[in-house]
Amino acid sequence: MINERVYRSEGIVVHRRNQGEADRILTLCTPQGKVQVVAKGARKVRSRKAGHLELFAHAQLTLARSRSSWDIVTQAETVAPNTALRGDLVRGTYARYAVELYDRFIAEGEGGPSLFDLLARMLAYLCEEERLDLLARAYEQRLLMLVGFRPEWEHCVGERGGGLCERPLDPHGERPFGLDPERGGGLCPDCYHTHRQEHAVVPLSPAALQLFQALQREPFVQVREMPVSPVLLEEVERAARHYITYYLERDVQTGRFMRRLDLNRQGEGAHIDPPSAPAGKAVGPLSKM
Ligand SMILES: [Zn+2]
Repeated sequence: MINERVYRSEGIVVHRRNQGEADRILTLCTPQGKVQVVAKGARKVRSRKAGHLELFAHAQLTLARSRSSWDIVTQAETVAPNTALRGDLVRGTYARYAVELYDRFIAEGEGGPSLFDLLARMLAYLCEEERLDLLARAYEQRLLMLVGFRPEWEHCVGERGGGLCERPLDPHGERPFGLDPERGGGLCPDCYHTHRQEHAVVPLSPAALQLFQALQREPFVQVREMPVSPVLLEEVERAARHYITYYLERDVQTGRFMRRLDLNRQGEGAHIDPPSAPAGKAVGPLSKM
């Protein structure tokens, strides 16, 4: 007889916290979305599960459904231990950043196979890659796309003469381009000049724009061959953080607003389900990168 209370799933451990004397609550990124589960006895020295449930580990899990509490991990086998991410301080910091971005952009029960694949690949890359900062930038661009906040780097998002500018962004010349998180992407030099006083708008060098375009267009294996100066990397890191922070902070509020809207609309059959970050967490970890 099939026991319907038991199911199997792959999962990546993105967060762990202790519960009671010996248990651990795990936040998992799975192909079905983000979930919290409990690993009973995981902190006991002789626990057979514990070694498979380290932070960043990718495991094949057997779980028992629970109606009253978190589902329970009954068995765990390692798919990819990602050991290097726990033994190496620098790689570990990048890995922490990758899982935190996932954790903050994705609410419980949201997410899916593409985000799972992205995170699994990212952690595997992080174990070996030398160009970690460039890899982090590529990850951000893909994550933003998958959560519905894809920055527009190809056409200007500014406004001119009462309409959208939409000029192709050709990263040449001396004049600065702009980054406008509010409008969701890059500004041509003319629109940057027009909008530059707005609080969220920041300048973007032609080289930084070009790198963002490459990060979005090309697979990482090609981007990693590009020569990128430390100064440019720093500019792109700062710009990406500006964009991401803007969405994470705004999202806490829009998330609330959307949920209210959703409640109001129930009965009309409408459903708005924006990706939302857990409310109330500080932006701290982003600024450490
Ligand atoms: Zn423009």
